[in-house]
Amino acid sequence: MTGKDKTGKCSFCGRDKKEVNLLIEGIDGHICDRCVEHAHTIIEEEIKKDNAFNLNEIKLLKPHEIKEFLDQYVIGQDQAKKNISVSVYNHYKRLTQHLDDDETEIEKSNIILVGETGTGKTLLARTIAKMLNVPFTIVDATVLTEAGYVGEDIESILTRLLQAADYNVKVAERGIIFIDEIDKIARKGDNPSITRDVSGEGVQQGLLKLLEGSIVNVPPQGGRKHPEQKLIPIDTKNILFICGGAFDGIERKIANRLNTKVIGYSSVKETERIERENLLRYISHQDLKSFGLIPELIGRLPVLTYLDPLDKDALRKILTEPKNSVIKQYKKLFQIDNIKLEFEEEALQYIVENAIEYRLGARGLRSICESIMNDAMFDSPSQKFEKLRITKEYAEEKLIGSTMQRLKAS
Ligand code: ADP
Repeated sequence: MTGKDKTGKCSFCGRDKKEVNLLIEGIDGHICDRCVEHAHTIIEEEIKKDNAFNLNEIKLLKPHEIKEFLDQYVIGQDQAKKNISVSVYNHYKRLTQHLDDDETEIEKSNIILVGETGTGKTLLARTIAKMLNVPFTIVDATVLTEAGYVGEDIESILTRLLQAADYNVKVAERGIIFIDEIDKIARKGDNPSITRDVSGEGVQQGLLKLLEGSIVNVPPQGGRKHPEQKLIPIDTKNILFICGGAFDGIERKIANRLNTKVIGYSSVKETERIERENLLRYISHQDLKSFGLIPELIGRLPVLTYLDPLDKDALRKILTEPKNSVIKQYKKLFQIDNIKLEFEEEALQYIVENAIEYRLGARGLRSICESIMNDAMFDSPSQKFEKLRITKEYAEEKLIGSTMQRLKAS
C-alpha cells in the first residue's frame, strides 16, 4: 500500500474522473478542475474582505477634522486634542497608505497623556476609537503584574482587545488600547529592592514588548484559569497605545528642571512667572524619567501631551455642551416620558459649585445630578405633567440630605 487514493475520484466533491475535465493527483487524494476554481474564488473573497477592512473601515480624517470631532465630546484640552489628532492621523496613514518607498518606515506614534484624574484622558481615547470605528479597550496598569505573580498577565491586555474585536484578529490588530494609571507603575526610588519589583519596573519591562510591535501569543480566554487553551498570535505593530496618568507631584520635577535651566541667563522674575502658570504645559520626557518611568518605555511613547485642570467655566460647559452631556441625557430620559425638562442657569451653577467643593471634578457632576434628579425620576413617570423646571432651590433641597451631602459633612 502506498497510501495513494486509487479511486480516481475528486476528494473534495466526490465526482468521478469521467465527470470532470481534469483531475489533479496529490499525495493522498485528487482535486478536480471545478473544485480548484471554487477554492480560488473562496481565496479571492477572503483577501478582498481583509483589504476592505484596511481601506474602508478606518475613517481617516485630516487632523483638523479629527479635532473637530473631538470638540463635540471633549471640552477644552486644546493642546492634547491637537497632539492626538496629528498622531492618530499619522498612525492610521501609515496603515492605509502603502508607500512605494520601502526604506522610509513611519514609526508608531503611541501617546502618553498627563493630567489630573477626571480631566478627560479616557474620554479622549474613547472618542478617538469611536471616530475611527476600531476596537477599543481600557486597562488599569495597577492590576498588571509580571508573569507568575498574582494579578493579570501583561498579555491579558490583548485578550481584552481581541474580545472587543469579536475575536477577529485582523480587526484587533488595528485597535486602540488605553492603559490607565501608567504613573502607578513608576519605579519607586533609585534603590533596587531586594524583593522583585512586581508591580513597578517589571511591568514596565513587560509592556515594552507590546508597545514596540511584536507577535505576542495571547490566551483567548485570558488569565491562567484555562491552561489548555490554544494561544492566538497577535501582531501589535499597528495597535495604537494611549497611556494616561495623573503623575501626582510631577510639577515639582518640572519646576526643578526649569529652574536649573533658567539660572544663569534669566531673571528670578521669569522663573516665578513660569511657576505660577500651569507647569504641566512644560512637561518633557525627561520629567517622566525623573518620575520613575524607564527610558525604554518613554522611548516607545513618543507623543507626550498634557491636560489642563478643569475650572468652573469648563465644568459648566461639560454639563451641557458635549454631544452626550449629562444634562442632554436627562432631557432625553424625560422626553421619552413626554416631559420637557429644563434647568435654570442658577441650578447649573449650583451643581458646578458643588462639584468643585466635593473635589470630584467632572466625574462629580454626574453623581450630583443623580442625587438631585432621583426623586423626579421616581415620581414623574406616574404623574401627568408636561414640563419640569429644575430651579436652584429645588436642586438645593434635593442635594441637602442626600448621601452626597453627608459625604461633604464628613
Ligand atoms: P480621566 O481619564 O482623565 O481620569 P475621564 O476621561 O474618565 O477622566 O473623565 C471622567 C468623566 O468626566 C467623563 O466620562 C466625562 O463625562 C467627564 N469629563 C472629564 N473631562 C471632560 C472634558 N474635558 N470634556 C467633557 N467631559 C469631560
